[in-house]
Amino acid sequence: MKRRNAWKEYKKKDMAAVEELSVLYRRFLDAGKTERECIREAIRFAEENGYRNLETWIKTRTKLKEGDCVYLSHMEKSAVFFQIGERPLEEGMYIVGSHVDSPRMDIKQIPCYEEAEQVYLDTHYYGGVKKYQWLSLPLALHGVVIRKDGSRTEIRIGEQEKEPVFVIADLLPHLGREKNEQKVKDFIVAEKMDVLIGNQPLPEENGTENVKKHILRILYDRYQIQEEDLLSAELEIVPAGRARECGLDRSMILAYGQDDRSCAFASLKALIDSGIPGRTKTGCCLLVDKEETGSNGATGMKSRFFENTVAELLVLLEKKQSGVPFEVRLRRSLANSKMLSADVSAAFDPMYEIYFEKKNSAYLANGLVFNKYSGSGGKTGANDANPEFMAQLRRIMEEQDVVYQTAELGGVDQGGGGTIAYIMARYGMEVIDCGIAVLGMHAPWEVTSKADLYEAVKGYTAFYRWGQ
Ligand code: MN
Ligand code: MN
Repeated sequence: MKRRNAWKEYKKKDMAAVEELSVLYRRFLDAGKTERECIREAIRFAEENGYRNLETWIKTRTKLKEGDCVYLSHMEKSAVFFQIGERPLEEGMYIVGSHVDSPRMDIKQIPCYEEAEQVYLDTHYYGGVKKYQWLSLPLALHGVVIRKDGSRTEIRIGEQEKEPVFVIADLLPHLGREKNEQKVKDFIVAEKMDVLIGNQPLPEENGTENVKKHILRILYDRYQIQEEDLLSAELEIVPAGRARECGLDRSMILAYGQDDRSCAFASLKALIDSGIPGRTKTGCCLLVDKEETGSNGATGMKSRFFENTVAELLVLLEKKQSGVPFEVRLRRSLANSKMLSADVSAAFDPMYEIYFEKKNSAYLANGLVFNKYSGSGGKTGANDANPEFMAQLRRIMEEQDVVYQTAELGGVDQGGGGTIAYIMARYGMEVIDCGIAVLGMHAPWEVTSKADLYEAVKGYTAFYRWGQ
């Protein structure tokens, strides 16, 4: 099988478009370093391109019509964007779904304590992390604190040059010799991965925990937050700093949260680019939360949020009584849809060659990656896509000259992973995993190729335009 390197195929015009896209992408990543921030940025981006809140239609019972661009956000942590097509919803939609949550350190509900005149925030890690990667890095604090009266304070500390950062300190190499002999997974106790946030006592106090008192005073003076208010907070520790160009040739992006905000960005950009009029079937970009912890919770893919939204659409699109029961029309709308489960793929890493199978690996700059199946140990838990669907996609990608590749995550029995594909497949729709290759996935700083992002936007656009 011949591999295509996207860079080799670009003309001057493509190169300019790749650069332009990469600037937009980095801005998107910088604005959204938590699921809430990412959803807010996605909505801002969509509104800038003519999308309006579906709530307005629902509240005023206004009918939707072909060409309308609408979105609905759910608890600020997931959202769905639609471009209404001319065909009835029962004939299905073209859906591209991705997740906007990323691995990180969450702050516990009672987090603040002082030890040896140092103040820490106690954490609980979120998603699959190699714990050692989070040590000795500049970290930022993002999130929201909700007071009893419902008022809220948004927190975002550590991203601007003049703002302080935080750190989970590591032990010096001179100490703990036996610790260096331990396995990586035991090397760091998760309970000890606490973030250092202060070391200066209040000068006028004589009692104990004066450093903590100082921190609490700052929290109150600057943010009007009391210690108890942290009981109702959603605070996340993420790597501090911006998305950067990577490599002397600037061919790559180094950034936090590219799993899966690279696909979230690419799919939303593609929905906007795929444009109207002339859209036959409804296009849908779905951004969900909680994928990294199993898609549970009201904002995760296992929630009925998406199905509920499609039900609302059906009501708002109804022209005359069709005689077919509503429930049947809802089931048809879902079952007749086609979906790309847009999630990142592990890029082949020559430093760790033995864990990959070369023929069936994703390579940086080799374009959009299709994973027929994910899962692990005998495809367990996999959504194994139908070859009929894959064949259609091959045709569409080739018609639009999209550089694409197929892969599975690592060698057989070397690992594996899941996405939201199997959850959507329960509706009986065609689903396949399809995303961007990432080097060092789940690390605080992940690497992607600018070319793959460009091909992903092209590929998702081609999918949305299917049948147009
Ligand atoms: Mn993912
Ligand atoms: Mn992941």
